[in-house]
Amino acid sequence: MSSEANTPVLPNCIRLPLPEDELMEVVAKAKDYAIMHGAAMRSKTAFSPDSLNFAPFVLVPSSFPRKEFEKAVALQPIINRLMHNVAHDEEFITTTLAETIKVDEFTANLFNIYRKVLAHGFTQAYSIGLLRSDYMAHVYEGCAIKQVEINTVASSFAGIATQLVPQQKFVLSELGHADKLHNMPSNNALAGLCDGMVKAWDIYAKPKAVILFIIEDVSYNICDQRFHEFYIRETYPHIKVLRRTLTEVHKEGKLGQSKELLLGNQEVAVIYFRAGYEPGHYHSQAEWDARYLMETSLAIKCPSIHYHLAGTKKVQQALAQPAVLERFINDPDEIKAVGKIFTGLYSLDDNEAGNATYEMALRTPEKFVLKPQREGGGNNVYGVDIPDALKRMSRVERSAWILMDLIHPPLTRGYMVRPGGDMPPQIVEMVSELGIFGVVIGDAEHIVHNYQAGHMLRTKLSTANEGGVAAGLGALDSPYLI
Ligand code: ADP
Ligand code: MG
Ligand code: MG
Repeated sequence: MSSEANTPVLPNCIRLPLPEDELMEVVAKAKDYAIMHGAAMRSKTAFSPDSLNFAPFVLVPSSFPRKEFEKAVALQPIINRLMHNVAHDEEFITTTLAETIKVDEFTANLFNIYRKVLAHGFTQAYSIGLLRSDYMAHVYEGCAIKQVEINTVASSFAGIATQLVPQQKFVLSELGHADKLHNMPSNNALAGLCDGMVKAWDIYAKPKAVILFIIEDVSYNICDQRFHEFYIRETYPHIKVLRRTLTEVHKEGKLGQSKELLLGNQEVAVIYFRAGYEPGHYHSQAEWDARYLMETSLAIKCPSIHYHLAGTKKVQQALAQPAVLERFINDPDEIKAVGKIFTGLYSLDDNEAGNATYEMALRTPEKFVLKPQREGGGNNVYGVDIPDALKRMSRVERSAWILMDLIHPPLTRGYMVRPGGDMPPQIVEMVSELGIFGVVIGDAEHIVHNYQAGHMLRTKLSTANEGGVAAGLGALDSPYLI
C-alpha cells in the first residue's frame, strides 16, 4: 500500500520536529518509562526469559478524529450484541462457512469441533467474548471510521495499551505540553477485560476453581499477558491463574464427573485463549484433541468455538451484505449505524457472485485487499499482488478467501521509536488503526454483561501494508482526539 500524494495529513498534537538534543533526551526517558511500566516484549532476535525490550511506540500520541472515536466507543455494545447473536446462530454460521471449510483445513478443523459439540449439546451454556473491533478513518468519506476486522479470539494489547496513555502523557508533559493531556481519553482496557473474566468466573460459582490462560510455546507478547494475570491476582487475590500450552492441556487435562475441566486436581472455571487461533499452534492431533476436550468441558470459554467461528473474516464478509444485519439487530437506527462502518466486502465462493468478485479483483486490484481465514497479521495480499495470487488458486480454493475494499486512512507525522537504534528517530509518515475492546457474556437466550472496555491505537509507516507491532513495522500509540 503506498500513500497517495493527496492524502490529507492530520494536524499534530504538538509542533514537530523537536530540536535534536531535546528529542534524544525525551526518547531515552520514554524508553525507560516503557520498560519500567511493562510496555515491553520479549526479543524475537535475542530471546531471553530474563529480559525485555520496550515495545515499539510512537513518541507523542497520534491525532484521531474525536467524533469518530466517540462513535466507535458508542457502537461497541451494539457490536458485542451483534457478535453474540451471530455466534449463537447455527444456521448462519453453517451456511456462511460451507464453501470455505471445503478448502480451508484450519477453519474446517474448528468447524468440526463445533459440529461435534452441537451434536452432543453444549455442556456450558455461557460464553464470554473479549472482543476488539478495529477501525481506520477513511479519507474518502470525511474520515468516517470503517471496520478493518473484528477479533473474537486472543484480542491483545489491552494490557500494554493501558500503560501507553500515561507514557505518552509523561512525554507530552516533559515537552512542556501538560495543558494538552485532557485530549487523551483515559483507557480502562485492562481492568475492563479482566473484570469480564472474573464476572465469568462468578457465573461458574466455584470458589476454588481457577482461570486458565492458553498460551503459545513461547510468549513474545509476555507483558500484555502478564498484565492480565497480575491484574486478576492483585484485584481478586483468591482467584488463581494458570498458564498452559495446548500440548500441556493434552497431557494434563481431563474431564471430571460433571464434565468439569481438571488440570491435576484443579478445576478450571474460565479458559482464556491467547493461543489456538493459527495453524502453527496445533503441532499435531494432540492439540486439536485438547481444544475439543476444553470445548466439551463445563469451563466458560473465551472464546467458545462458536464465538471463534463468528470472528472469521468469512463471517465478517457475510455480515456486510445487504439485509443480513436485520437478522441479528432489531433497532433500525442501530442497523444503519453498524452498516455505515462496513466497507465493501465480497465473497469469493465458487458461484456467480464469487466469479463476479474474481473478475472485479483482476480488473482493479489496486482497490482491494485479499484476506484468508487467519489471525495474527501477515496473511493478507494487497493491491497489485492480488491477480497473481488469485490466478494460482482453483475456483474452489478461492472460497477460503474474501476480498475487501482498501480503506485509505489519513496520514500523521511523528517519531516512531523501536528497540535497537542509537540514532535519533526521524519524522515519518504514518497511519493509525483504532481498536475498541468490548466484553459480552451470556447464553443463547440472554446477555448478562455487555460493555465497552477501553481502546488501543496501533500506528504503522504509511508505506507498510500491515503494522503488526511484534512483526516489525507497527508501533503502539494512543489517540489524541482532535
Ligand atoms: P488479522 O486478523 O491478521 O489482524 P486484519 O484484517 O486485521 O487481519 O489485517 C491485518 C492488517 O492489514 C490490518 O491491521 C491493517 O493494517 C491491514 N488491513 C486489513 N484490511 C484492510 C483494509 N480493508 N484496508 C486497509 N488496510 C487493511
Ligand atoms: Mg484479527
Ligand atoms: Mg487485525
